[in-house]
Amino acid sequence: MLVILRSDCTAAAAAAVEDMIRSLGYRPVPVPGANRTAICVTGNKAAVDGAALRHLPGVLECIAVTRPYKLVSREVQPEDSVITVADVRLGGDAAAVLIAGPCSVETEARTLRIAEAARTAGARMFRAGAFKPRTSPYDFQGLGHEALHTLSRVREEFGLPVVSEVLDKDHVAAMAEHVDVLQVGARNMQNFALLRALAGVRKPVLLKRGASATLTEWLMAAEYLLAGGNDQVILCERGIRTFADHSRNTLDLNVVPLVRQLSHLPVVVDPSHGVGARDRVRAMARAAIACGAQGLLVEAHFDPSSSYTDADQTVDLATLQGIARDLALLGKLEPL
Ligand code: PEP
Ligand code: MN
Repeated sequence: MLVILRSDCTAAAAAAVEDMIRSLGYRPVPVPGANRTAICVTGNKAAVDGAALRHLPGVLECIAVTRPYKLVSREVQPEDSVITVADVRLGGDAAAVLIAGPCSVETEARTLRIAEAARTAGARMFRAGAFKPRTSPYDFQGLGHEALHTLSRVREEFGLPVVSEVLDKDHVAAMAEHVDVLQVGARNMQNFALLRALAGVRKPVLLKRGASATLTEWLMAAEYLLAGGNDQVILCERGIRTFADHSRNTLDLNVVPLVRQLSHLPVVVDPSHGVGARDRVRAMARAAIACGAQGLLVEAHFDPSSSYTDADQTVDLATLQGIARDLALLGKLEPL
C-alpha cells in the first residue's frame, strides 16, 4: 500500500503515519517525489487494510500496490530514477550511456590501452571483470585484487567511472573502494546474501537479469536492494536461455519497454552476452536503443581475438565507434 500525504502534511503528522505503519507490523519507506510525498508500506504478506491509516491527519489517500515488488514499481514512484555516477547520468531524460571494456581486466598496459580507446570511441563508463564467474574451474578466473588497482588507474587516468562484477559478498567492501558501480552477474541475480550486502553499500549496482529469470523475479531481486536501503539500481538485460542454439543467449528485447512501464529504474542492454558473436553485436545494440534501453554494455578490445575471456563476442574498436555513432543517432528518436 502507498499512503499519499497531503501537500501541507507536517513532519510530525508524517512521523505519526510511519509509527502507525510500524504498529501494524509493517515497515514504512518514505518515497519523496516531484509532485507528491508518499510512504510505502512494505513487509505485508497480504493486502494492507488501509482503515487505520486513511483517516490520520495529513493523509490524502491510500492506494493499493498491486505488484509483488513495491519500491521498484512505477505505482510507488511514477518518475524515472536517474542514477548519477561521477559526471554521468543514466536513466530518465539523460542521453543513452555507452559502457564498454574488455570482458576481463587484463594486464595493466592492455587494460589502460582499451580504456583510452573506449573513451575516444565515446564510452562514458569502463567495464571489466576482476573476478570472473566461469563455468569451468580450470578456466581463467580473473586477476582478482590486482585487477582492482588497474581499475583504479583507469578511473584516475581517464576519468572514466568503472563498473566491475562482485562475485562474493566478502569482496563487497574491497570492491566498493575501487569501483564506481558494482555489477551483479546473471549467475548471482538471486544470490540473496550478496544482494543484502549490496543493499548496505552507497554505490550503484548494475543488476543483470538471470539467464532463466522471469521479469518478476528480476524486479524482486532489485527490490531486495531498494528494501535494504540502496535505491541506486541499474537493470541490465543480457539474454536468457531458450531452445534457440543459433546465439549464446536470446536477447530478450521484449522486456525493455515492459520494464520501463513497470519500473522507474533505468534499464541497459548487454548485446555482447545476449548474442555471443561479435558480428551481430552492433545490430542488436541498435535494436536495444531503438526499443528504449537507456544504455549499452559492450565488450570491446583493440585485438578482440586475444581477449582473456569472451573473445568471440568482443568487438573491435572500429565497431565500438560505430555503436557510439548509432547510439547518438538513435538517441534523436522521439521518446516512446
Ligand atoms: C560479464 O559481464 O562478463 C558476465 C559474466 O556477464 P553475465 O553475468 O551476463 O553472464
Ligand atoms: Mn563477458
